[in-house]
Amino acid sequence: MVLPGVRTGAGAAATKMVQMRCRVDGSERSQSPGPGTQRAAVYVHWPYCEKRCSYCKFNKYISRGVEEAAMRSCLVTEVQTLLQLSGVRRVESVFFGGGTPSLASPHTVAAVLEAVAQATYLPTHSEVTLEANPTSAPGSRLAAFRAAGVNRLSIGLQSLDDTELHMLERTHSASDALQTLAEARSLFPGRVSVDLMLGLPTQQVGPWLGQLQELLCHCDDHISLYQLSLERGTALFAQVQQGTLPAPDPELAAEMYQEGRAILREAGFRQYEVSNFARNGALSTHNWTYWQCGQYLGIGPGAHGRFMPQGAGRYIREARIQTLEPNNWMKEVMLFGHGTRKHTPLGELELLEEVLAMGLRTDVGITHQHWQQFEPQLTLWDVFGASKEVDMLLEQGLLLLDHRGLRCSWEGLAVLDSLLLTLLPRLQEAWQQRTSSSVPGR
Ligand code: SF4
Repeated sequence: MVLPGVRTGAGAAATKMVQMRCRVDGSERSQSPGPGTQRAAVYVHWPYCEKRCSYCKFNKYISRGVEEAAMRSCLVTEVQTLLQLSGVRRVESVFFGGGTPSLASPHTVAAVLEAVAQATYLPTHSEVTLEANPTSAPGSRLAAFRAAGVNRLSIGLQSLDDTELHMLERTHSASDALQTLAEARSLFPGRVSVDLMLGLPTQQVGPWLGQLQELLCHCDDHISLYQLSLERGTALFAQVQQGTLPAPDPELAAEMYQEGRAILREAGFRQYEVSNFARNGALSTHNWTYWQCGQYLGIGPGAHGRFMPQGAGRYIREARIQTLEPNNWMKEVMLFGHGTRKHTPLGELELLEEVLAMGLRTDVGITHQHWQQFEPQLTLWDVFGASKEVDMLLEQGLLLLDHRGLRCSWEGLAVLDSLLLTLLPRLQEAWQQRTSSSVPGR
């Protein structure tokens, strides 16, 4: 369920811009290796669900007869292959997402963790997160996942209103979700996250804020707020098209987001990323790797990864995606040791765009040191310091550029998409100037 930067509205425009720009940036050269080339996070995708939620466009399959032993063996094989290919020596975090990974057996989770620990160094304190759906994760099962090595849970609660849960075609009620949350907190104190959606059709600001307040009475130290993205091809999209449901109102969603983040701030939560809030230091280190453009390996059907394969004698980070359909993926893993469908070298500019778009999602933004690890020749001042458009954003108090680096203000974080519409072209321009001035004869 978790792909960096695509679950929320903010970031989507940036992602699109990054994808649309043609590649002119010398992807054949070795890159500055960036931070921690021997470190990585590992994402493991469990592709199966009990039932299709009405809004869902994730890579998931509703299967009655999952061949779990075969799936387990392929996940283990693929993680071994990709760890070897990446030359990664230390894994900082493992995230089991989906689909519904709480439907997998704890034995499968343990087998994957064991494979990681055998192939590389997996410190005992590494964050190991499992996404759990309330109905597939009763307390006894959660305890078995804990015994298997999971130490953090992310619960897909989504709403505390049964009518909304019905509209979303979730398999649980609000009381199921609260019960799972209570069980999870007793087993993983301080390490339970919950997802709450906003901007649903028919949803109004006041009642949604009431849900958030109620959630604050039950939650642990981490909350993610996700705005519904109405995706073509989903049942919810069809219902809106047919007029059975009203289209979600973006103005109301923006109001929910603004008021929601203020409530969470008041309750002692730090908004450390566009959609993520933590108190008592309970930030997700796994997702932090994505926002810092660290390396990560994507294991399982449709998983995405970003890492530098070893052996080519040069540093080129690749974007990799695994084959989507589970049976085809398994066949490929059995034949080749991995099911990578596509691997694309990331150009230097492309990587910098990711550093910019992902880094600005966090409250820390991009420090000068962090930027320099990816681009030693062009500073943040060089890129943004002399731009009139960027200057306007600084004057409006949406952006800060100072001795620490570049980051969004509290107000700016809420409109990151629109800021990136100015910042990404400026980066592209600065990059073109630098590369053309370094071409001999110019
Ligand atoms: S649980 Fe629902 S939202 Fe999550 S991946 Fe499965 S179908 Fe999609």
